[in-house]
Amino acid sequence: MKIGILLGDDIGLEVVPECVKVMQAAASRSGLDIDWRPLPIGKRGHEEHGDTYPAVTKQALQELDGWVLGPIGHNAYPRNDRTWMMPPVRKEFALFAAVRPSRSYPNIASVHEDVDIVFVREITEGMGGGPEFRPNDEVTIAMRVITRKGSVRVAREAFEIACTRQRRKVTAAHKEPAYRLACGMFAEECRKLAREYPDVTFEEELIDTISMKLVMAPQQYDVVVTTNQFGDILTDIGAGLVGGLGLAPGLCVGERQAMAQATHGSAPDIAGRNIANPYAMIVSGQMLLEWLGRKHGEPKASAAAQRIRTAVDMVIGEARHLTRDLGGSASTTEMADAIAAAVLKA
Ligand code: ATP
Repeated sequence: MKIGILLGDDIGLEVVPECVKVMQAAASRSGLDIDWRPLPIGKRGHEEHGDTYPAVTKQALQELDGWVLGPIGHNAYPRNDRTWMMPPVRKEFALFAAVRPSRSYPNIASVHEDVDIVFVREITEGMGGGPEFRPNDEVTIAMRVITRKGSVRVAREAFEIACTRQRRKVTAAHKEPAYRLACGMFAEECRKLAREYPDVTFEEELIDTISMKLVMAPQQYDVVVTTNQFGDILTDIGAGLVGGLGLAPGLCVGERQAMAQATHGSAPDIAGRNIANPYAMIVSGQMLLEWLGRKHGEPKASAAAQRIRTAVDMVIGEARHLTRDLGGSASTTEMADAIAAAVLKA
């Protein structure tokens, strides 16, 4: 299995190596062979190739099964058009869904207890950086594109994830009464797909209703699938519900490849001090292994993912090696070492 390591900037230089360390420990324990491919991006790309997203990296990514990407900073090098490079990577590699779990832990301060939701957000169409134009100085028009292909593939990802979970429930969030054609197409494809998954409970919610219910009673949701811009907002609500950015992992998935990418930015304010919380990056790596296991029918990858999950739960539950944003005093390295050690026992 070929996996790229793209450190990114600032705290990316600290949390990505810890994520790789934990993934490698789980892979060794599960008999999974990972061919790691370090690739320059961000500041390193700028220094070595004069580009934050060098052509060599782009080319090398094509051969990989997946990669771990650290946050790209905005202050680490002179700003240029390439600095904000997430949209091209997602589009170039047809990574169409951002999968973002929101999970609360009993001993970590959060708005609600017993939250365990996976948000699945479409990220290639809709209204995420889509075309805008201004026919005259008084009017701006922004376009929202929804396709059947885009809707069905993101919905399928949500149903497949639901099949791996105990509650097996998918909620499609949209606003069909207001956007009859656009949300209508998305909802229609979700409904059609639901018939292929009779063991999964399917329901629909209006985007405004679900926003309120997520704040008041998030425990009722299992897997929530939605379009780009709605998902952008819902996933931040999800991160806020369970304790913020340090606990917000993510995976961008395509048909053939996936990219582990935590929700948080490069956090220059705490970079270089070994205090960043590695949880989000490590769990993003765990999600990558889980996805690769499912996609390639590779039980060793699934086993490695399960080991990391057990280890993370153990370390968070014991609360002896938590970073300070989680109320502890451990360094980035100490928390990740504790998880790696738990992986070897799991
Ligand atoms: P960007 O614009 O690059 O997306 P941002 O400025 O929106 O980033 P972050 O860089 O994610 O935001 O930082 C927001 C706050 O959260 C900062 O105070 C930062 O220190 C904190 N933070 C982010 N990630 C972590 C982490 N892994 N551990 C601890 N604190 C974090």
